[in-house]
Parts: sequence; C-alpha cells; structure tokens
Amino acid sequence: MRNKYYQDYLDIVKSFRQYLEKRQKRGAKEGKISLEDEDPQKLLQAIFRSVQNCRRCPLYKYRTNPVLGRGNPRARLMLVGEAPGKEEDLQGKPFVGAAGKLLRESLRKAGILEKEIYIANVLKCRPPGNRDPAPEEIKACLPFLKQQIKIINPEVICALGKFATQVLLNTKQGITHLRGKSLDYQGGIVLIPTFHPAACIYNPNWQKFFLQDLRLVREKLYKRA
Ligand code: URA
Repeated sequence: MRNKYYQDYLDIVKSFRQYLEKRQKRGAKEGKISLEDEDPQKLLQAIFRSVQNCRRCPLYKYRTNPVLGRGNPRARLMLVGEAPGKEEDLQGKPFVGAAGKLLRESLRKAGILEKEIYIANVLKCRPPGNRDPAPEEIKACLPFLKQQIKIINPEVICALGKFATQVLLNTKQGITHLRGKSLDYQGGIVLIPTFHPAACIYNPNWQKFFLQDLRLVREKLYKRA
C-alpha cells in the first residue's frame, strides 16, 4: 500500500515539474526557479488539473465537480474543512452552503476578512450523501492538501472539525480536547483546531466556542503581523 501512495505523491510532483519545465521553455533561466518564486495561483491551477484527472479513490465517480479551494493564494491564514457537501459539489467551491454561511458570519464577527484567507478541504470530492470520509480516501487525497499548504505557506492554519485536525496533527485525539489550542504544524505554522461549522449548526451551543477559537486565530495573525 505504501507504494501506491508514494506513486500518488510522485504523480503530483511530476505535474509540478511539467509546469516548471514549460515555464523554463518560455524563457525563464534554468536553475533560478523555486516554489517560492512561482505564482501560487499557477501552481494551484496545476494541482487542480491533477485533481480533475485523479482516480486514486472511487469518489471521482460520484462527484459533479472537484473542489480544490478558494481565496487568496498568498493568504496568511488557511482554513481546512472536511469535504465538499452538496452545494460545494455543484458549484466546485468550498463552503458555499449552510456551513459556509455560518463560517462567513463567524469570521466577520471575529474580525477576519475573507480576502485574508484561503479555504480548502481534506477531500476534494464529495462523499456520497455527505458521509464521513473513509481512511483510504483521506490517505489518497492528502498529498493534494499538503501541496496546497506548501504553496500557500500560511502563518496560521485553522482546522475545522475532527477530520482536518486529526489528519494534520496525525493524532486520534478528539476535537473537544484539541479545540481552542494553539499548536504547531510541521515546526513553524500555528495550527488552531476548532469545531466544524456544520457541527455548530447541529449543536448551537458550540457556536460560542467556535467564535472564541476564531478570535484566537485573529489574535495569532495580528501578533505575527
Ligand atoms: N463542509 C466542509 O467540510 N467543507 C465544505 O466545503 C463544505 C462543508
């Protein structure tokens, strides 16, 4: 199994290399191109093409559109959700349904501007009926999210809900234990887990904790400015 996921990783790297080679052919000097120098929007487009062609798990069969992410490709804050829902699948954009509405309102209340953020999900295709992501789907899709994080290179990541939190921190600890804490992602990025906005719709008494956590996110961003 390890080989299969290693092959997935190589596929993504290959699509980057093809993009960089194309760019070099267009006149850039060899040896002078690094990920940091590249236009992040173009790199994200290269990932999107890989996602469009992805067959690493069966979810591509059921999707209407893959959902890569949206927002500022140079954002200092990245939000990571779980997987596209019905509305996201139809529009090809993350958090445009009911959970997105709550997220938008809460970001506004916490003083975080939409133009300051980039939003993505762990899974890029909708699981049928919005069921939980399966472990093998998460494993298959994770290289895309990791590449997105490398490209955006945010200072703060806010993990929305159990799946994003557990996969980014590589832990089995529960979200109620981890939420509201300022943790570290790969030695340098602040990672703050919070409840998923959809969970806050079902448990309205969690909304105050959600807002509290987003205010902590705002504080970390402000301190690092
Ligand atoms: N829930 C998510 O986790 N992501 C979306 O994009 C929408 C709902």
